[in-house]
Amino acid sequence: MADGINAYGSVKDRIAAAATKAGRVPENVTLVAVTKTHGPERIRPLLEQGHRVFGENRVQEARGKWPELRKAFPGIELHLIGPLQSNKAKEAVALFDVIESVDRDKIAAALAVEMKRQQKFPKLYVQVNTGLEPQKAGVVPSEVGDFLKRLRQEHGLRPEGVMCIPPAEDQPAQHFTLLARLARENGLGVISMGMSGDYEEAIVHGATHVRVGSALFGART
Ligand SMILES: *Cc1c(COP(=O)(O)O)cnc(C)c1O
Repeated sequence: MADGINAYGSVKDRIAAAATKAGRVPENVTLVAVTKTHGPERIRPLLEQGHRVFGENRVQEARGKWPELRKAFPGIELHLIGPLQSNKAKEAVALFDVIESVDRDKIAAALAVEMKRQQKFPKLYVQVNTGLEPQKAGVVPSEVGDFLKRLRQEHGLRPEGVMCIPPAEDQPAQHFTLLARLARENGLGVISMGMSGDYEEAIVHGATHVRVGSALFGART
């Protein structure tokens, strides 16, 4: 299944089917193709098929492959889906169109400075630690409202969405329900949730963006 173009068609079909089954419009679900660990030769076939939305989890890795691909393929929208250190904020603002992992005031402040300096304004999502996992990035659910308020009022930012990575050992549904509720309660239209193993379920629970890697490109080594 995970053989490039065929896998892409299959994932797109399954996204459309899940959306339709949930009474949603397939066009309202965006596939973020997660290309971490994969080189340009694996990415090009998707670009040639017309796909334009991609995710990387490390700033340094993205720097090595995306500037060149952008030159060859206009209209790319690149998402940072991994943790961000404030000393990488400058590069993250330069490289990415969407930063999905905003979760601390220190990052927010650094991003605000860089966005102003570069006059480049990537979209921002708040990462939520829905499983309250101590080792995992993200704002805990009870603090999402306050954090969003600080992003707007203290940092002058305009967050558009929320993102989560459920604990691997949990049923994802409870996390998807929680994230969708937090988005609704806080007036955010973008909900990034669902990966290769559970993106159809995420769509049923309202995902607007699903982040899919191994179902498209095979297992990462
Ligand atoms: C790697 C990664 C994904 C994609 O995972 P797959 O299981 O390969 O689809 C999605 N989201 C984040 C944050 C990731 O780091």
